Amino acid sequence: MQSLYLSLFEEFKRRYERALGRDDLEAARDYALKCARILKVLAEKVPGKREFYLEKAESWENVARELESRPPSPVPQSNTRRMSSEDDYRSYVEGLISTSTVTWNDIGGLHEVKKLLAQSIALAFAKKPEAIKPWKGILLFGPPGTGKTLLASAAAGSLKATFFNVKASDVLSKYYGESSKLVTALYQVARERAPSIVFIDEVDALSLKRESVHEATRRTLATLLAEIDGFKGAEEKFVLTLASTNTPWDLDEALLSRFPLRVYVPLPDKEATKEILRIHTRGLDTSRLDLDAIAEESVRRLYSGREIANLCNLAVHHMLEDINPELADLEKLSNMDVKNLELKIRPLEMRDFEIAFKKIKSPLTRKDIERYERWAEEFG
Ligand code: ADP
Repeated sequence: MQSLYLSLFEEFKRRYERALGRDDLEAARDYALKCARILKVLAEKVPGKREFYLEKAESWENVARELESRPPSPVPQSNTRRMSSEDDYRSYVEGLISTSTVTWNDIGGLHEVKKLLAQSIALAFAKKPEAIKPWKGILLFGPPGTGKTLLASAAAGSLKATFFNVKASDVLSKYYGESSKLVTALYQVARERAPSIVFIDEVDALSLKRESVHEATRRTLATLLAEIDGFKGAEEKFVLTLASTNTPWDLDEALLSRFPLRVYVPLPDKEATKEILRIHTRGLDTSRLDLDAIAEESVRRLYSGREIANLCNLAVHHMLEDINPELADLEKLSNMDVKNLELKIRPLEMRDFEIAFKKIKSPLTRKDIERYERWAEEFG
């Protein structure tokens, strides 16, 4: 059910972006309000994420208000942005803070990894004798979509720590030339708001092993390495850096040395796949499904958690469209009051999954998996 509202939200968001692109501010405002309304419905329907959706709804209402009073520039003038004052850096960094509602129970499989992370985090943030030195950086590596971001979110959620979600390539490309200062500001704000977890996704973007490395990348990497373990302040100011990569072989020695704890996050096996299937069909009747058969097929196809989540989403959509034909009519949908939408539901069936399987393909080959395993053996 949740996934239906989420895809409606995505559709309205796309329409909002298209309206902005053609400078139709009135339509953009209308779609922003629709996005806010759907998020409010989600806040009611998913009690565990109430705050999260209400916060998002509010930001869409702000977007709509802004569009009414002051037309924003619809298309950014260029890809790179310039910042002049410390406040600019800080406000960018504050924008990276995200509220995590993910718990360890939302992650299927990966039991050893979850235990290791939970232990390392407990050790990092607990009061302890000086001789016990916690890890300051942990590297998560493995194929894309296996739950690395999810693990970092759950770690932050379990601690109620401030969670900074940073994509290394974004920082480098959008704030070209200034990314080193951003990293300094990032750790400054993280310490002020400690306990904090800084999650650096695609950390390989900072590697110096690539063919042409720009000076800005070099500087940013040096700053990051210094920040990860440089601070010798009070224990309660502790900041843990979790970094993630899908291409660990691209990382250079300097970076690897800051992450002595390297955790392999592999593709799910059959049991893990069954757990992920259960997580992504929560609240629905799955009694007519042969979960073993679905899991075996998913493993055979080298599906990651992301593909399994997509598979479930597609199967649920198929079930919904099957018995709610009005859902196929998007025009009708966008004009109706989604809050009063009464959806019919039936148990999920194997045919929903058979159709979904046809649409989802893993980007990986066995050779890719072997490469991860070799790296894990040598460096993990
Ligand atoms: P990564 O960071 O490794 O590329 P993500 O953590 O972003 O992957 O996972 C993408 C999505 O796939 C998640 O938001 C979730 O819906 C699903 N997913 C991946 N792994 C799992 C898992 N182990 N359990 C439950 N869902 C998962």
